[in-house]
Amino acid sequence: MESPETANEANGHFDDKAWLDLAKEAVEPGRAAQMHAHLDSGCESCRNQYAMWRLVLETAERESEYEPPDATVRAVRDAFSLSRKLPYLPLLADLAQLISDSFLEPLPAGVRGAPSMEARHLLHESGDLVIDMRLENEGHNVTSLAGQILQKNAPVETTAGTGVVLVQGHDNLVGHTIANSMGEFQLEFESTAELTVFLEVPGGRIVSVALPVAEP
Ligand SMILES: [Zn+2]
Repeated sequence: MESPETANEANGHFDDKAWLDLAKEAVEPGRAAQMHAHLDSGCESCRNQYAMWRLVLETAERESEYEPPDATVRAVRDAFSLSRKLPYLPLLADLAQLISDSFLEPLPAGVRGAPSMEARHLLHESGDLVIDMRLENEGHNVTSLAGQILQKNAPVETTAGTGVVLVQGHDNLVGHTIANSMGEFQLEFESTAELTVFLEVPGGRIVSVALPVAEP
C-alpha cells in the first residue's frame, strides 16, 4: 500500500516532516526550491503547515537555548493530527463536567461587581483530568482564553504538549495551540456562540469542554 506521504507528494504536496525539515533548513537546495515553488503556488494547507513549524521553531528558540525538544516536535505533530480529526472529535472526546463557574456563584455580600467586566473562571473535570480556564472579554468582540490542564496525582509534565483545538459549531476550526511544559495554553478569538475546546493529552485521550456563551 502506498503511504500517505507518497500520495501527498504525488499530488504535488509535501508531508509534515518535509515542512519541518524545510523550517529547520535541513533540506537540500533543489528540493527546497521545489518546496518554495509549491508554497508560491498558493497551496493553503502546505503554507499553514510550514508557517506553523516556523512559528514552533522560533518559539522554541526564544524560550530555550536548545534545539526544539523532540517533545515539542511530537506535540505539534499531534496537534496537527488533532485538527485533521476535526469532524470526528465529538465522537472521540469525553465531555468534561463543569465543577464550578464563577458567574454562577452568587457574589459574597457587600461585593459590588459587574460580572461582565470580570474574567469568568471555569473549572472542569473528566476522570483524573482537571481543566482550569479563565475567559476574559478583551473588548472589540475579542475573547481571550487562558487555561491549564492537569492530571491528578501526576507530575505537571504529564499534560505538557497537550494539543488544544477550538471549534465553533460542528467543525469550524477557530484556533489551535499546544500546552506548554506546565500544561498551560492561551488562545484569543472572536467572541461567538457554540464554542468547544478539544484537548488531546499525550497518549491520546481527548477531552472536550463546551464554553459558555460570551456575555454581551
Ligand atoms: Zn500543498
